[in-house]
Amino acid sequence: MHRVIVLGSGPAGLTAAIYLARANMQPLVVEGPEPGGQLTTTTDVENFPGFPEGILGPDLMENMRKQAERFGARFRRAWVQKVDLSSRPFKLWIGEKETLEADALIISTGASAKLLGIPGERESIGMGVSTCATCDGFFFRGKRIIVVGGGDSAMEEATFLTRFASEVTVVHRRDQLRASKIMQERARQNDKIKWCMNRTPLEVVRTEQGTVAGLKVRNNETGQEELMETEGIFVAIGHKPNTDFLKGQLEMDELGYIRVKPGSTLTSVPGVFACGDVQDRVYRQAITAAGSGCMAALDCERWLEGSMTHDWSQTL
Ligand code: NAP
Repeated sequence: MHRVIVLGSGPAGLTAAIYLARANMQPLVVEGPEPGGQLTTTTDVENFPGFPEGILGPDLMENMRKQAERFGARFRRAWVQKVDLSSRPFKLWIGEKETLEADALIISTGASAKLLGIPGERESIGMGVSTCATCDGFFFRGKRIIVVGGGDSAMEEATFLTRFASEVTVVHRRDQLRASKIMQERARQNDKIKWCMNRTPLEVVRTEQGTVAGLKVRNNETGQEELMETEGIFVAIGHKPNTDFLKGQLEMDELGYIRVKPGSTLTSVPGVFACGDVQDRVYRQAITAAGSGCMAALDCERWLEGSMTHDWSQTL
């Protein structure tokens, strides 16, 4: 039985843990399947205030974790797969049998990389298909790589992968990129990056050994199918909130993002607070996640102390 459990250990969860721990609430942080969250799969973070030279994503997360630990936060490497929020204490299942109980819950489970959903893709993960350039770029030294997507993630991954690959081709389904100007420019200035616009990915073509041989695409101008030969495909088409385990337990929007009362972290269930990317489909930045983690900790503290009512009704 815990006073408060924080689910997830990205910038939102760890900031919440720092605040709760400093308020002597000894939070338990359940770290989830990707401890440290999405920033552990990125390289240089240049826009987190306080680091004029930038900082590596994994280093930033390690620092936040140590900071929370220093004030008494406890950590558990586990993955909560089911919850019961219908009554208090809230119940959380780790695996089939083990349960945790808590008076209050902070959900900061973030979002995960989306896949294209085309034949050959899922089977090729780890065999040439990846969603994380930082994790897997090293394995593609001197090889030709395709990056699918037209947003900031695709630009960032393509630019990073030029450190290893002989050539990186960005495949995007429209003729216009979605990425911010600065990220586009950085990628466009890189001679190793080629552009293949207006192409819809259809299939990951595999060798007999199961490694990636190419990407079949449809040219949206001509309607023709084309085979692009490649040894690696990095899928960078955005993310999905990690809320499947919460279905039916609290209010979410049509994409699965948790609904919070505007200007707060209150969810539709009293005593349950949400922060970070799991409730944010607009900003999705480390600093906004950290900021909302702070808000969740303060909301939670006040609610546990009885100095704040969990008034969700104002949102209706
Ligand atoms: P995003 O902005 O949603 O872009 C996703 C891209 O993938 C879009 O170009 C989209 O095409 C394409 N796409 C989506 N589904 C597809 C499918 N089934 N088949 C083919 N293409 C598909 O996602 P993101 O790039 O991950 O960025 C998310 C947020 O994080 C943004 O706010 C971004 O600014 C931020 N971010 C910032 C940085 C940074 O500043 N360093 C780095 C990464 C991300 P359409 O354009 O046709 O929709």
